[in-house]
Order: sequence, then structure tokens, then C-alpha cells
Amino acid sequence: STKLMEGRRGLIMGLANDKSIAWGIARALAAQGAEIAFSYQGEALKKRVEPLIASIGMNQMIECDVGSEESMDALFAHLKETWGSIDFLVHAIGFSDKNELRGRYVDTSRENFRVSMDISVYSFTAVCQRAAAMMPNGGSLLTLTYYGAEKVMPHYNVMGVAKAALEASVKYMAEDLGKDRIRVNAISAGPIKTLAASGIGDFRYILKWNELNSPLRRNVTQEEVGKSALYLLSDLGSGVTGETHHVDAGYHVVGMKSVDAPDI
Ligand code: NAD
Repeated sequence: STKLMEGRRGLIMGLANDKSIAWGIARALAAQGAEIAFSYQGEALKKRVEPLIASIGMNQMIECDVGSEESMDALFAHLKETWGSIDFLVHAIGFSDKNELRGRYVDTSRENFRVSMDISVYSFTAVCQRAAAMMPNGGSLLTLTYYGAEKVMPHYNVMGVAKAALEASVKYMAEDLGKDRIRVNAISAGPIKTLAASGIGDFRYILKWNELNSPLRRNVTQEEVGKSALYLLSDLGSGVTGETHHVDAGYHVVGMKSVDAPDI
């Protein structure tokens, strides 16, 4: 049987280490025959990313800071030169000053609001512009979001506001790019222990709370996010666009702590 991603080429942005959600997605896509290029932020990450991608038979890695237009232009110029076109893109990038991922949202500074929106929201729009220009045969674009966009979660603060804007941008881009057979979706992942998550105040408590109160009574893994990403990025998801798909053990449907859930 042919693999779901055979003959498909694409870019994964936001691989930092083997705990990254980007890594769960990379493995799921590689196992189905995808050819993947990776972008990473800053030379310091290069040593970590290089052996990881080699372990799944990939070797294309390009430095890119999504805060810089020049850096993104250089990334896509490189892809244009080596591949000409692409079929998919994964944006697994977010950033906020961790000093503001605790305490109150109302105390957010103008500067961190600006940076959080720029790196966590606008960068997806900026890469979609460039990726869409390289998708003559259509394609699939995917970003990562969190339930803190929909409901107030402790300490998530300005990132919740940024994720709400990110989810709205997914809908607008789904409409803009649908005529070109390009789909745009988000996965709303449950809490997973990663480098970015460790910056959120009381993250261990959030993990425990979700484990005890989600319908599946556990947390999700990078592998599970990877499998759902495969669905959205392959032909399995061909009828799906503008969607925020929850991969959170069902936590988003719960309205109240279950009577049988133990206290933390
Ligand atoms: P991670 O730390 O492994 O990945 C975050 C990535 O963002 C890193 O690779 C980092 O280099 C990159 N990044 C930050 N600023 C950048 C910049 N200016 N230019 C280029 N890259 C930049 O953590 P993760 O949890 O895998 O995060 C991936 C995505 O998943 C984020 O959007 C995050 O908000 C989202 N998410 C995470 C969780 C969770 O619980 N871990 C839940 C839902 C959504």
C-alpha cells in the first residue's frame, strides 16, 4: 500500500528538541513518506536539531527567526531554489516573555503584547503568504493553538489573547486561500511538557488538572498530536479547512470538575 505522504514535500517550523510538538508531527509525517525541511531559531539549536532530523532520514535545516522579514524571505528563497514547490507547512512556534505568563493578564506590558502577537500570530500569516506562493497544486497549512484562546486558563494571559487572534487568522486565511485549493487549520493541543510550556506558571498543576478531569482521564502525547496533524496535512483531511481541531483528551467539552475526579 502507498503511504499517505509519499511524494509530498513540506516545511516544519519550531523544532527545538525531542520534546517539541514539532517532533511528534515530524515523525508521524516521515513514517508516511513525507520529505521534510526544518527551520530552527538561532545557531544554538543547530546541534540539537541536526541529529534528530538525521534519525528520520532528513537533512535539510535552515535557520529562521520569524521576527525578521529578511530571515523568512531567505528561508523561502532557499526552499524555492531546492524544491520549487511545497505541499504542506507546519507552524509550531509561539513566544511571550515568561515573566508575564504568571500573575494577571491585566498587567501585560505594551511591549510584550506587541512581541507575543508578532511572533505567535503574525508569523503564521507571514509564512502562509510565502508558502501559498509555492503551492501551485494546492496544499495544507497547520498551526498549533491552545484552549486558553477560548476560555480563561490560569497564567496563560497574553498567550490566550494571542491564540484567539491566531485562531481567527486561520479562518480568514482558509477563506483567502481556499480558491487556490490551500487548506488552513489549527490543532488545539492539550497541555504537553515542552520547553515553551515550562515557561507557563504552575504548568505542572495544569497538566495534573487535565489528566484528572479530561474525559479520557489522561494527557495527550506529541505522538497523538502528530497523528492528527497527519490527518489534516494529508488527503485524509481534504474536506477540512478553517478548523480548530482539539487534540486534548476531550478536555474542551468539560463544563465542571467530575464528581469522581480526585482532588489534586
Ligand atoms: P517548543 O519550545 O518545543 O517549541 C516552540 C518553538 O518556537 C521553539 O522551537 C522555538 O525556537 C520557536 N520560536 C520561538 N520564537 C521564535 C522566533 N522568533 N523565530 C522562530 N522560532 C521561534 O514548545 P511546543 O510546546 O512544542 O510549542 C509549539 C507550539 O505548540 C506553540 O505554538 C505552542 O503555543 C503550541 N502549544 C503547546 C502546548 C503545550 O502544552 N506544550 C499546548 C497547545 C499549543
